Amino acid sequence: MTRYTGLIENYRDRLPLAPEARAISLGEGRTPLIKLENLTKQVGFDGELYVKFEGLNPTGSFKDRGMTVAVTQAVYEGAKAIICASTGNTSAAAAAYAVRAGVTAFVLIPDGKIALGKLAQAVVHGAVVIQIQGNFDDGMRLVKEIGETTPVAIVNSINPYRLQGQKTASFEIVEELGRAPDFHCLPVGNAGNISAHWIGYSEMAGVATAISPHHGDGRFLDRPLTTTRPRMVGYQAAGSAPFMRGGPVKDPETVATAIRIGDPQSWKLAWALQEESKGWFDECTDDDILATQKLLAASEGVFCEPASAASLCGALRDIKAGKIAPGSTVVCTLTGNGLKDPDIVMKDGLKSLIQVPAERGAVEKALLAHLK
Ligand SMILES: *Cc1c(COP(=O)(O)O)cnc(C)c1O
Repeated sequence: MTRYTGLIENYRDRLPLAPEARAISLGEGRTPLIKLENLTKQVGFDGELYVKFEGLNPTGSFKDRGMTVAVTQAVYEGAKAIICASTGNTSAAAAAYAVRAGVTAFVLIPDGKIALGKLAQAVVHGAVVIQIQGNFDDGMRLVKEIGETTPVAIVNSINPYRLQGQKTASFEIVEELGRAPDFHCLPVGNAGNISAHWIGYSEMAGVATAISPHHGDGRFLDRPLTTTRPRMVGYQAAGSAPFMRGGPVKDPETVATAIRIGDPQSWKLAWALQEESKGWFDECTDDDILATQKLLAASEGVFCEPASAASLCGALRDIKAGKIAPGSTVVCTLTGNGLKDPDIVMKDGLKSLIQVPAERGAVEKALLAHLK
């Protein structure tokens, strides 16, 4: 047995890092690929449906995969500070990896609409939290401007090292399944993660993709580990769906705050990969997203955050509609952990509390009413 020490050490030969660069890691990666046996039966799907639970990364989202590589490279280049705009999870990851590296993290967050758990993470890790009177897109614009004149490394997904780290999720999926799935569904905000996954699958297949700057002819492996690549499907929240509207959305609104983004930074990459993969974009309403979050939690024991549920929400709908063919192998990425945003489920959850006197009879009565 060797101790697992994170995705940089695991995939160093496939990451564009200098051999002497010290890995800044929290043991991210190796998240479980959970087969949804109960749900598959419930909806009558005869294929295989999996979720890759990225909410089990060290700070509770897939952002850790990108952050370990981005911060490692920034520190290698001599950065003393990092900066990001964030709807929450990027700031949580930046704050934690900055502590590991001994550098300062500056995070710009929108006013309101940030899950309390995520804000708590940025605060507890000692990031300099700057709340702007604007939304994520305003924050992103400011970070780009500041990055031009101030000695801080930008660790948003416009930093190509972020995508390089995040591509490793595809590596893990292919390693576990022994091949690529037929469909891979993700929630889409800036579209960095869906792009990263496509780069990862292309490298595993030994096939070039137009969207990777490091890719060359795509021959990263001596022997490709899969002969196919999945069709990539990206779901947005209906109130925040620039890919469906054909251009930026000015005032994006959704309960899925992690994808409340009106002006996606990886717009071009996303369209290019959709063409290459023969995939598609679609949108889900807030009501459907929240219903799927609950369905997953109540039928499989997996608690993801609202934005994450968009992938499964869309996938179940497209399975039902036949867009995802019977017999397919489908992977949905659950991008973040539900514990970051408990308020959202407790709005109804409190109603289901049963309050009784501290007496055996009363507790027994409550039990008997609920025995299946
Ligand atoms: C960042 C994030 C997303 C969106 O990912 P993009 O790369 O911006 O498309 C989705 N869900 C969660 C939980 C996130 O933190």
